[in-house]
Amino acid sequence: MNRPAQSSITAVCGIGTTILTAALLSFIELRWGHALYSFTVWFVIPIGAVGAGMVAAVGYLIGARLANYRPSTSLLSVIVTTSAAMFFLIQWMEYSFMAVDGRSIQDSISFRDFLGYTVAHTSLRFGMRSHFTGPGIEIGTAGYLFAGVQVIGFVVGGLAVYGFISSMTYCDDCGLYLNTKGTQTRYFGSAEEMQAATANIQGEMQSRRLQHSVLIHGTCGAIDSKGAIFLSLMEVKSCKGCGKHWTKFTANRKSGNDWKEIPELKLSAFSIEPVELHKTISGLK
Ligand SMILES: [Zn+2]
Repeated sequence: MNRPAQSSITAVCGIGTTILTAALLSFIELRWGHALYSFTVWFVIPIGAVGAGMVAAVGYLIGARLANYRPSTSLLSVIVTTSAAMFFLIQWMEYSFMAVDGRSIQDSISFRDFLGYTVAHTSLRFGMRSHFTGPGIEIGTAGYLFAGVQVIGFVVGGLAVYGFISSMTYCDDCGLYLNTKGTQTRYFGSAEEMQAATANIQGEMQSRRLQHSVLIHGTCGAIDSKGAIFLSLMEVKSCKGCGKHWTKFTANRKSGNDWKEIPELKLSAFSIEPVELHKTISGLK
């Protein structure tokens, strides 16, 4: 498949999920009065818009994976444009389907005026319907700022998906995304134990003995997470075109109920030889 075809498939999938997301959000707002995308923390952190922007941009991820399309600046500009346009698309869908007392509002107001009115009268807690049926909260200029924050939120959501697509491992020789073969997780109760294992495993990886590094990893630490403060992860992927394998080691530190990756300890490498996750150390030559 050539690059224009790949980029078209990716764009069509992404624009499709953007329209679907906008339709769903405006339907929820018209039906139940909840503008989910406008959920904001402290007025300036648009959690709802970032989330909506990510959901809308999922199509770009699906399309890129299906077409094996490596993202480029042209995809970046498409994502930024459609993410920002989503705000206006939602307003336009609401304008098209909103009715007051059985009459479509299109009969009494232009889209431009509707947009200006809804933005200037943005209510933070109530549905837009209330503006036409009762007194809404008038926030004037702050409404434009609030709308601007939403647009930025949608774009940030889209950029997060773009970042994820860019981080997916790719075989440059075949032009294919790698397929995950599996992962192996081990837990450690002390920093010393984890450091010793990391040094050993990374030593093998640096000597290009990737299968050995996975086998050694399998014998380190514990399989059970009880009492652990560190964990290590071996991830193996392969290219279905040339059979090339990719192995990645990461270490994580426990932080509350979450695990936080330790970026300095991350290491990955490609190999021509296959790497299996489920071999045992007794099978080691
Ligand atoms: Zn390949």
